[in-house]
Amino acid sequence: SLAVQEITMSFGPLKVLHGVSFEVAQGEVVCIIGPSGSGKSTALRCMNRLEQPTGGDILLDGESTLTMSADLLRQRVGMVFQQFNLFPHRTVLDNMTLPLRRVKKLSKEVAREWALAGLAQVGLSDKATYRPVQLSGGQQQRVAIARALAMRPEAMLFDEATSALDPELVKGVLSLMADLAQRGMTMAVVTHEMGFARRAAHRVVFMDQGQVVEDGPPDQIFDDPQSPRLKAFLAEVL
Ligand code: ATP
Ligand code: MG
Repeated sequence: SLAVQEITMSFGPLKVLHGVSFEVAQGEVVCIIGPSGSGKSTALRCMNRLEQPTGGDILLDGESTLTMSADLLRQRVGMVFQQFNLFPHRTVLDNMTLPLRRVKKLSKEVAREWALAGLAQVGLSDKATYRPVQLSGGQQQRVAIARALAMRPEAMLFDEATSALDPELVKGVLSLMADLAQRGMTMAVVTHEMGFARRAAHRVVFMDQGQVVEDGPPDQIFDDPQSPRLKAFLAEVL
């Protein structure tokens, strides 16, 4: 499980997180929604130590992640971004084995085995020798997800993983994420896809202005919002 506890974060004089707390239990999918600039990405980045919160704590299975080595944390908690960050001219297999060899210190053979297992999970076993430039955006994002899965993480973070994709490619990536959820992956998902949040999330966290304003099951969040801020947000996006 991942437990975000009262984290605060500032960029210089700008306070962007004011004591954010939520929990992602083992095997649970938590979607984080909210307006632009509300601090969703910052909160997620803190969970992978791409940002260091200025206060509070984040626990992975009860252990503080803030004092863990960032390398180890990122092996245990994978992250997928809007931009795929693949090396465009290296093969899919190389893109996947390089971090496994560097970070996990796996031998060439074992790295290849783990990479192929990751690719199989996203249904792209036949693309191992392709280069990202030869793949569609949706396939590239699936490779990026496979690369994270190949590390055999305990949890996965997704930050707007479908926002850079052409509309017709969004569905494939969302259904892959839904598959992962079905298979019991622990996931925190920042998304603008309210349909996905409603279908796939066990809980939805609504953030606004650096705070968690509401946190509840999707039915409650979407059908029975309590706060004026969530009501206003839903009126805009639904
Ligand atoms: P969006 O939906 O547009 O992605 P978000 O909810 O992910 O928005 P964040 O990216 O977390 O929002 O940003 C929260 C606030 O922190 C914003 O005011 C943003 O301008 C500010 N911010 C984010 N990153 C930095 C940075 N590296 N330096 C300074 N300010 C930042
Ligand atoms: Mg963001």
